[in-house]
Amino acid sequence: MDELTAQGNDEHIFHLRPQTGWIEVIAGSMFSGKSEELIRRLKRAKIARQKVQVFKPKIDNRYSHDHIVSHSEMRHESSTVETAAELLSKVERGTEVVGIDEGQFFDAELVNVVNELAQRGLRVIVAGLDQDYTGKPFEPMPHLLAIAEYITKTHAICVRCGQTANYSQRIVEVEGRVVVGAADAYEARCRRCFVPHADAPTSHITEAAD
Ligand code: ADP
Ligand code: ZN
Repeated sequence: MDELTAQGNDEHIFHLRPQTGWIEVIAGSMFSGKSEELIRRLKRAKIARQKVQVFKPKIDNRYSHDHIVSHSEMRHESSTVETAAELLSKVERGTEVVGIDEGQFFDAELVNVVNELAQRGLRVIVAGLDQDYTGKPFEPMPHLLAIAEYITKTHAICVRCGQTANYSQRIVEVEGRVVVGAADAYEARCRRCFVPHADAPTSHITEAAD
């Protein structure tokens, strides 16, 4: 990356390296506080008067078209995009922080887009589910976890037993990986209480579930 040249208030010319960007990932099960944590970080960036832009995928229109909203009703304004490429095209000059919610609903190109933004010197914060309802890693989140400078794993509370929950249990009979528009279709479960789909890689833990 080119060095910036800045003129001092006297005849000295000094060189500043442009600020380095980085990637932060907030990953965990449903109800684990990913959106709350993302919103908290974005609000602090705004308090610091940084230019912030927030994006979410079009598939996630559950609560609002122009805000990301947590299960606890925290909210932050956002733009809806259909693809990672569209997200990149909407990042404005001067933006310092990019927040992305529901990262698991983006296409694989999100990895390149997030890398590109960090290379440009932006702070990129991605929140998303790390596993689907069967316990399978939910791309592109695992890939993002591998390349991120900073990772936060959030946990919910198991609604069955009160232990730390790392799984999103689907509690309705619906086909397909994604059931949007239905927070009621899932509940947070711990390792013991989670009952994965029979063909899931985590099916070995069914014996431990009651
Ligand atoms: P996520 O983005 O990970 O789905 P949110 O940030 O939207 O999570 O919501 C987290 C909030 O969900 C908690 O602060 C709490 O108010 C609420 N909540 C509902 N059920 C649970 C649960 N089983 N465990 C923890 N928090 C829960
Ligand atoms: Zn449990």
